[in-house]
Amino acid sequence: MATTGAPRVYKNFIDGEWVDARGGKAYENRNPANTDELLGMFPASTEEDVSAAVDAAKEAYKKWRLVPAPKRAEMLFRAAELLVRRKEQYSKDMTREMGKVLAEARGDVQEAIDMTYYMAGEGRRLFGQTTPSELPNKFAMSLRQPIGVCGMITPWNFPMAIPSWKMMPALICGNTVVLKPGEDTPLSSYHLMETLTEAGVPHGVVNLVSGDGPNAGAALTKHADVPVISFTGSCATGRRIAEACAPEFKHYSLEMGGKNIIIVMDDANLDLAVDGAIWGGFGTTGQRCTAASRVAVHKAVYKEFVERFVERAKALKAGDGLDSGTDMGPCINERQLKKVMEYVEIGKNEGAKLLTGGKRLEGGGYAKGWFHEATIFGECSPQMRIAQEEIFGPVVSVMAIGSLEEALEVANGVVYGLSASIYTRNVNRAFTATRDLYTGIVYINAPTIGAETHLPFGGTKQTGNGHREAAIAAIDFFTEWKTVYVDYSDRLQRAQIDNA
Ligand code: NAD
Repeated sequence: MATTGAPRVYKNFIDGEWVDARGGKAYENRNPANTDELLGMFPASTEEDVSAAVDAAKEAYKKWRLVPAPKRAEMLFRAAELLVRRKEQYSKDMTREMGKVLAEARGDVQEAIDMTYYMAGEGRRLFGQTTPSELPNKFAMSLRQPIGVCGMITPWNFPMAIPSWKMMPALICGNTVVLKPGEDTPLSSYHLMETLTEAGVPHGVVNLVSGDGPNAGAALTKHADVPVISFTGSCATGRRIAEACAPEFKHYSLEMGGKNIIIVMDDANLDLAVDGAIWGGFGTTGQRCTAASRVAVHKAVYKEFVERFVERAKALKAGDGLDSGTDMGPCINERQLKKVMEYVEIGKNEGAKLLTGGKRLEGGGYAKGWFHEATIFGECSPQMRIAQEEIFGPVVSVMAIGSLEEALEVANGVVYGLSASIYTRNVNRAFTATRDLYTGIVYINAPTIGAETHLPFGGTKQTGNGHREAAIAAIDFFTEWKTVYVDYSDRLQRAQIDNA
């Protein structure tokens, strides 16, 4: 994929074929660290393309649901092996399309590998339940059954992990898939399709339709033959999706924003807490739904913590994620960079103290990318917008707190509830925080990021709508329970009446 000459043209994947968008339109996928680099052209899909993909998935579902789950698992296992072999190439492509540093891109592909192996293992489980009937000579059990065509709408920040978190559980359960990836990162989804197909997943079982939200995404949410929508992205879009799904009572799962906090108590190991705040706040340039964008520090250690935190943030090197010396890549696009810059102004105007950063990085190696300095605001109050709203960039707001009770109130005092962390060496405080932090994920003496694929992932309040991804929780979302009673008594037995 050279930067000069004709760009490579990528296609949609529908019914096992690589096809152009029916309208013939395509859009550019450029490297956010160097916008001169054009990774390729991708189809700008519309309702027509989505319909074709849904038709293919609906047809394929008829057979796929009947393939024994252990056989489906063999395909996923092969896909995982292929991903392992291609990890380096896919990681480099991901860094080029999304900007995250190579080590993190490798982590993203590894998450996809982990999820694929994990769900392959589920092929020989997919446990239901058997339980005694209240009546004699009667057998009772509940089974999981697939639902049908699952529409998946994903963001750009975990270009391979998030689509895998949705696709692999859906597939192992016997559903078929139409994926609409984030418009900034279609290449990583292209790689996933390529891999699954080579692993033997039949035509029509997985389909890829790239394009934007209003044209491609919305068409998927509205399609009458798509009973399930799995979405990860912003709250604003999640709300639209909920509205689109409501009239037909579709099943939908929403994984949305976060305003995650690290609490640093006066008995914390400060070295560890600073390491955690740097990784949690500036890893993936702060563009993680679990990013630690707030830090609440006990006033007894506030000064010392802030000094060390700022010193470490100043030393972070922004740059091209493929360069080994880079700590932090660019923002994903110009819009996101502008949002970060706007929030820096908001923070200054509402009286927070800018301790480091605060500017776009320009000139030299930064001239062609969307780079921003690692930025820390101190002396924030919990009600400031920079301490309440999701920025999704390298900006951290630090607040002083006087007690665990106050820290927990601050932690829970936002509309989101994804991830929270506490640094303390006191077991009572650790367990109190674990109980009282109203978030889907809690870390003790570790930052707010670092989910593993075999544990449930998701959040409370406006982060989600009660579902969880990953682990067995994902199986719950992509199946429906069917309860089966087998009466072998040869007579009418009336529940609740004849057993009196
Ligand atoms: P976004 O909401 O702008 O886009 C997400 C996806 O929705 C994209 O594929 C987009 O094309 C599509 N979309 C947009 N409008 C649509 C519409 N009207 N109908 C259907 N689809 C539509 O979000 P983003 O900027 O790509 O991602 C950043 C957001 O994602 C942040 O808020 C972040 O917190 C969140 N996120 C959450 C999690 C989580 O698991 N909770 C994980 C990663 C990212």
